Amino acid sequence: MGGCFAKNIKRAPGFEKPTVLAAETPFTVSEVEALYELFKKVSSSIFDDGLIHKLFDLFDLKCNGVIEFGEFVRSLGVFHPNAPVADKISFAFRLYDLRQTGYIEREELKEMVLALLHESDLFLPDHVVETIVDKTFTDADTKGDGLIDQEEWKEFVSKNPSLIKNMTLPYLKDITLAFPSFVVRSEIEDSEV
Ligand code: CA
Ligand code: CA
Ligand code: MN
Repeated sequence: MGGCFAKNIKRAPGFEKPTVLAAETPFTVSEVEALYELFKKVSSSIFDDGLIHKLFDLFDLKCNGVIEFGEFVRSLGVFHPNAPVADKISFAFRLYDLRQTGYIEREELKEMVLALLHESDLFLPDHVVETIVDKTFTDADTKGDGLIDQEEWKEFVSKNPSLIKNMTLPYLKDITLAFPSFVVRSEIEDSEV
């Protein structure tokens, strides 16, 4: 299964033609140009956080330890409201397959459930969490082999679309307008970490 183990994270923004990137992603040429400004700004800060390493691995399509501009735009394109849902489902699978085994195991599902609960400010007792994880895992693992494969994941997400709601960032739809506020917001978040 894919995934690269980026050890030394470097930053070397490699410019790619906006026309090429616009053809491959839901973004327009001017949006890609705006994204380049955003990329230069955030590529030096956002990927420094240890918690974001998994996301970094997924963005680093060429597995060379660097998020290049093209990788940034192609990966961010998955989060565009117009991106195919199948792409979002498959990206989410790779995101939740934390150990890159090609399957989502129960432990990984538990981490996902904990993250979703935390995001909703729900703090439940351990035994309740375990019950939720068991129930969710059983529902998803329709073949009952103790692993969630990509096919089971697709079925499960189609029944529970809220699982990929974080895979859509509405402001990417008008990145040229959203760009200034996005930068301000990301700076605020960085300083709070
Ligand atoms: Ca790379
Ligand atoms: Ca796994
Ligand atoms: Mn299974």
